[in-house]
Amino acid sequence: MAYEVTATRRRPQLFDTLVGQEFVVSTIKNSIESGRFAHAYLFSGPRGVGKTSSARILAKALNCEKGPTPYPCGVCPSCREITAGNSTDVIEIDGASNTSVNDIRIIKDEVLFPPQSSRYKIYIIDEVHMLSTSAFNALLKTIEEPPSYVLFIFATTETHKVPATIRSRCQQFNFQLIPLETIKTVLKETVDEMGIEAEDDALFWIAKEATGSMRDAYTLFDQILSFSEGTITLDKILKKLGIAGVDSINTLIQHVCDNQGEQALVLLEQLLDSGISVEQCIKDIASYFRSLLLIKRNIRSESILGMQVHNISDRVIASYNEEQLEAALHYFLQLYKDIRYSISPRFELELAVSRLLNLANMASSATLVKQIRELKGTLTDSSEISVNVSPVKKAVTPPPVKPVRQKLEEKEQEQVIQKNIEPEPVVKREHIDQQTISSLIQKMAQQRDSAGLLLHQVVKVEDGGDSLRLVFSSQYALDSAKEEMKRFQKMFFEHCGFNGSVVFDIDKPEEKEVKEDDTVIQTIANMFRGEILTK
Ligand SMILES: [Zn+2]
Repeated sequence: MAYEVTATRRRPQLFDTLVGQEFVVSTIKNSIESGRFAHAYLFSGPRGVGKTSSARILAKALNCEKGPTPYPCGVCPSCREITAGNSTDVIEIDGASNTSVNDIRIIKDEVLFPPQSSRYKIYIIDEVHMLSTSAFNALLKTIEEPPSYVLFIFATTETHKVPATIRSRCQQFNFQLIPLETIKTVLKETVDEMGIEAEDDALFWIAKEATGSMRDAYTLFDQILSFSEGTITLDKILKKLGIAGVDSINTLIQHVCDNQGEQALVLLEQLLDSGISVEQCIKDIASYFRSLLLIKRNIRSESILGMQVHNISDRVIASYNEEQLEAALHYFLQLYKDIRYSISPRFELELAVSRLLNLANMASSATLVKQIRELKGTLTDSSEISVNVSPVKKAVTPPPVKPVRQKLEEKEQEQVIQKNIEPEPVVKREHIDQQTISSLIQKMAQQRDSAGLLLHQVVKVEDGGDSLRLVFSSQYALDSAKEEMKRFQKMFFEHCGFNGSVVFDIDKPEEKEVKEDDTVIQTIANMFRGEILTK
């Protein structure tokens, strides 16, 4: 007997053996039990999830000698004919190769004849969306008012391509992707039934690759079975199919975490030399980072993760934050697109792995802005920069985010500087007098600027238009002011619009008076040829 592919051999023959479509199955079973079934069904959903199988089971359920029943016997002539695909009353048509209006006309003529040996004449039209518009139109009338013994079951992977006029005349069922765990369980049943040894990891891998399609899982299973010599292991699969296992990627990323660039690149070379394509390697690394990200977000379901959690190193999980993992995932997804235009995809991948070494230092623009805000807050709160402020990490790693981040960083820093140096906008030139000095003292005090303290010592102001003379009450104030000359010029420019030169002087009225007095007394003494006697 010729080898029968697993998908065909294990095609479900009963609703109860149809996996992953519980809602559809229970609804159809109920409608058969209650005798309220439609005359046109539309089964939509992804490929390989059981649409055609369901159509055949439904046909059997309706035409079974013991039926209509949700549990067709499988042994009566009708059931056996349908299973074998040679029932004269269950007609399967491939919509993809019978698209013309003539094909539909043949159906229209045929439906006039009642079923030969069964209860119903059932048309199963697969890939119905492939029919031409005129074919659909020809079909419309028939499905609207079919003879009571005729039933249509349409199947499609692309519901949106089926005209609304047809859809609205059908009872529609949406088939779902089959969960990873379910596929794995079915594969386990299959290997047990065949008496084959298979690693749990290997079955998980096949189930994951099938991405929700049972037929794809069986096809892959058959392919793997052909080289597995009775024992299916993940190692054999990865080697034969040229795929980097999660262990290899784990080791690679661990090297990256430990900043061992050389080991990481050597391992990458080994992976590529072993026959794994650059594309596959990028896909594997991207899917690894995706899993890490999901784990960080507390998702532990293996069917969502696409890999088994115990396979992922805790150390790697702990090494990165969500933001960094997002960036890495984004980077590798982008890389997959970019390599199509690259002169050397291999170089691109090496560069990417090399850049990953900086991943732990990477901070997003949002984080940088936050850090700068904190820094800004610290700067404006006190004139001294607190050493406790976490330093803004230099933007490194993945280039897609880099320029934006640097720009933001620079811009924010500029703002910080401006905020501290130029607290007020430039004002119009005003005349400076003692009153101006008093208001300046207040302003400076508000801004906690120590220059204001020196203004307290100003006893006289002379505004000479393009020069300003400030007279201080003490030598100490004068000396301090001279040291702060630039600050004074800036202060008067910013607050009074004064842009000329500032001259400082000291007020010594008492000394002068004493000197003058002394001179006068001395002159008088000289006039009288006397001498001055002190007490
Ligand atoms: Zn039967």
